[in-house]
Amino acid sequence: MRSMFNILTGAILATSFAAAAAEQPQPAPKWAIVIHGGAGVIERASMGSKTEAAYRASLNEAAQAGAKVLDRGGSSLDAIEAVIRIFEDDPLYNAGRGAVFTAEGKNELDAAIMDGSNLKAGAVAGVTRTRHPISLARAVMEKSPHVMLIGMGADTFAAQAGLEQVDPSYFFTERRWQSLVKQLKKEGLPIPQRPAGAPVPVPVAEIEPPNAHKFGTVGVVALDRAGHIAAGTSTGGTQGKKWGRVGDSPIIGAGTYASNQSCAVSATGAGEYFIRLTVAREVCALVEYKGMTLQKAADQVIHKELEALHGDGGIIAVAPDGQMAWSFNTPGMYRARQAEGGKLQISIYNDEP
Ligand code: ASP
Repeated sequence: MRSMFNILTGAILATSFAAAAAEQPQPAPKWAIVIHGGAGVIERASMGSKTEAAYRASLNEAAQAGAKVLDRGGSSLDAIEAVIRIFEDDPLYNAGRGAVFTAEGKNELDAAIMDGSNLKAGAVAGVTRTRHPISLARAVMEKSPHVMLIGMGADTFAAQAGLEQVDPSYFFTERRWQSLVKQLKKEGLPIPQRPAGAPVPVPVAEIEPPNAHKFGTVGVVALDRAGHIAAGTSTGGTQGKKWGRVGDSPIIGAGTYASNQSCAVSATGAGEYFIRLTVAREVCALVEYKGMTLQKAADQVIHKELEALHGDGGIIAVAPDGQMAWSFNTPGMYRARQAEGGKLQISIYNDEP
């Protein structure tokens, strides 16, 4: 009798412990990182296997570099800067070396960074001589009283802040140049002179379809062990841009935003739409004021609001409680994410998780 009673009590206790455990919120990861390398017409059918392998390897290297910073207790800002500097040196991406050309045959670079813990932000647009625009955006945030600097003034500030300056031809890549020439020919526009200092022309194996080059921006959002989130974005903008055009990437609230009250977002896509919708801030506003989950807010903005305007692109996001999200309405977006204790996930196409 007594043993029957013990068994029953044990069973009841075990059940209620299990129920209590199920109700317990999962412990939040101590750090998390999400990265993107641009969204656009990225399709299996037109992607060579070598190119795909190169992107996956590069996303892997960049994400691991960021994870390493966060794992040893580094700040979300440090992780973001470390990853974006790698992307800016990698000709695969439309940021730093490998950026697309303007209609005049120049590389004009934009970048922004934002610290969610204090709402400080730094941004630059139309930079032509600073090797790492993301580090310049960070210097604007930390070493100047301003939020945004443009053009020659921004490069001058970079030099004064001790950031590496390069000849504009450093950013030149044959693949991007030939892609510009192809687009301008198609549009019946004049072909600018090959930039001074560019290497002698070499045949390029693979020139992506003209649309592909509209995208290719890079961005990172991260949560660090101190519980702070941040966001950063870097880009060459859109191929063939004219008249000093600036997209969403360096506009705080449009392509880049972070607040510990809600989330951190980095965007990629047709910048004009992202500016008009203040996409990054909009996602965070839905989280903050409507109490949406991060994924739901991201999907609402990309699949409802952006699509209603016929805009293309995507975002990555992270929240202080460790939620990670991405959402895009293009055939692909180069992307990866990892949270402490979890597996690194790398994806390209829209049929991947
Ligand atoms: N959003 C960037 C811009 O409009 C381009 C991109 O994401 O590829 O400048």
